[in-house]
Amino acid sequence: METINKSVYYKLKELKDNAGTHSPSINTILENIPEIDLRIDACYLSNPYATDLFISHFDSDLVKSNKLREVLEFYPSQNNNISYKLGDFLDIDHENIFIGNGAVEIIQAVIHNFSKRIIVNIPTFSSYYEFAKPDQEVIFYQLDKNDNYRLDIEDYIQFVKEKKPDTVVIINPNNPDGSYLTSEEMEVLVKELKDVKNLIIDESFIHFAYEEDSLQMIKAVDFFRENKNVIVIKSMSKDFGIAGIRAGYAIMPLEKRNYLLENGFLWNSNGLAEYFFQLYVNKNFQLEYDEVRRRYIRDTQKFYQDLLVLPGIKVYPTKANFVLIELLNGMSSFEFVSKLLIEYGIYVRTCDDKIGLEGQFLRIGSRTFEENEQIVSSLQSILTI
Ligand SMILES: *Cc1c(COP(=O)(O)O)cnc(C)c1O
Repeated sequence: METINKSVYYKLKELKDNAGTHSPSINTILENIPEIDLRIDACYLSNPYATDLFISHFDSDLVKSNKLREVLEFYPSQNNNISYKLGDFLDIDHENIFIGNGAVEIIQAVIHNFSKRIIVNIPTFSSYYEFAKPDQEVIFYQLDKNDNYRLDIEDYIQFVKEKKPDTVVIINPNNPDGSYLTSEEMEVLVKELKDVKNLIIDESFIHFAYEEDSLQMIKAVDFFRENKNVIVIKSMSKDFGIAGIRAGYAIMPLEKRNYLLENGFLWNSNGLAEYFFQLYVNKNFQLEYDEVRRRYIRDTQKFYQDLLVLPGIKVYPTKANFVLIELLNGMSSFEFVSKLLIEYGIYVRTCDDKIGLEGQFLRIGSRTFEENEQIVSSLQSILTI
């Protein structure tokens, strides 16, 4: 602690205490503590190469060609019309596609409208239980720390059959630990859980997962085709690096989708998201995207390998674009995160507020190759003192 600037440390602590279950955003931190010299934001989890790719298209399609005005001045298409564009691309009937103003909006819509009793595996992305209203019951299923928070499929299926929920949630790969269920394991799960009314599969990080060295992209669309209780939720924020645009979609049964469209989600998207979806379904863009996706996965693999050899920490296995790290050197995670931010200008997430995580944890997002190298060397300095 001696080396940390104390007044900055206490200001940071106050912000953190006021932020609830999400970390204070880096903008909030910089506005309140301008003396912090931020160099790398590794708290937010996105592919920076994909953001670059998006911006280059945005620049030529909208800015240079003077079309930005149209996107801003006019109403965007309605939910139903945007889903047409996605339907062909995903090879799914457009009537099964629901567009969200970010995936968070879809999570909220599904939980508020279709769930009474929901099983949530912890640790997890907090929206899944925070959105539950007082008359909705949330049952936690604790993932096993000794098994690196990997879901034990047999035990879980048993648990679900006992508790008889109407909704279960599988995030694959899971946030915050990065654990991954293979397509084969998912198939078993989906088959065994066919009697649960809503089986939510959140694929917000699936583009970073792989099962072969070829890094082929994995999709759960086929589970939906065969099982009408499946709701696939997909955020675009992380894999395309565009959280500011608020774009996500879900694949869900027709009745549920229509119910939502008739109950307040008619015009919930926006011009920039619509532009993004047009780009998303474009073949050339997909080819370019796949390159930056693979490049980022390879950088993340290298990052993971470099972290593995650092002393005083446990690095959990991951198939996402971030790494869960447990501190074993006696430092608290908040102390560690503050030191990393104040002395090295690197912002990572403490996981103190994550229920279901016992211990001192950080979650670090993978960034560009060069940034990852800086993160590793800064961690090394702190850990080898
Ligand atoms: C970030 C995240 C979301 C929400 O993404 P938005 O599209 O930005 O709303 C949903 N699910 C998980 C698991 C996430 O980590």
